Amino acid sequence: MVNTEKKCDICGKVFENSTKLNQHKSESHKSETKVKKTASKSSRYKATGIAAAIAVIVVLGVYFSENQQPSATIIQGVQCDPTEGVIFHIHAHLDVIVDGKSITVPAGIGIKPNECLYWLHTHNTSGVIHIESPQQTTFTLGQFIQVWDNTPGISPKFEEMINGDKNFKVFVNGFEYKDGYDKIPLSAHDEIVIVSGSMPPYLPKSYEFNGL
Ligand SMILES: [Zn+2]
Ligand SMILES: [Zn+2]
Repeated sequence: MVNTEKKCDICGKVFENSTKLNQHKSESHKSETKVKKTASKSSRYKATGIAAAIAVIVVLGVYFSENQQPSATIIQGVQCDPTEGVIFHIHAHLDVIVDGKSITVPAGIGIKPNECLYWLHTHNTSGVIHIESPQQTTFTLGQFIQVWDNTPGISPKFEEMINGDKNFKVFVNGFEYKDGYDKIPLSAHDEIVIVSGSMPPYLPKSYEFNGL
């Protein structure tokens, strides 16, 4: 026990007392002790550096996640997710007829490229509304129109498309729906026709979804 206390931890030599050990250390291992100290100092710097880097990453993470919130705003309960919901996936079709003419529904409604997809969106100009959500909920035509008007870069907006008409009519599978467009549920394979101005000679009552 006495020996271990006076054993040099660098070379293993045993000394009678600690004074002699210390003397030995300072004479024989001066440079080693210095190097050892420097090394521990530099590793301490390294650790500090890593801690600082982690702190920066954490701060950046908080900064970006906070900044992402406003751009991914929920529109009337419809969220925008980085990937498409697979729990609930149905399709409805929308035709917009203004003064007897069929108007193309824009592609990309509800899609923020490289960012997120709203649960209600259009992938192309076919008029097919994709309802893709992580939860089974009844969505409405009103929610879809809100998403439409709030998706950046979509032209025309719904309002523009119908020239601000407040008295447009809505038909679902051939039947006029008079309780307000915002309440119209989007059900699987519905054919929804919005008519502004004069009635068209032919009113679509169904749509060929081709497997969708
Ligand atoms: Zn989709
Ligand atoms: Zn789909």
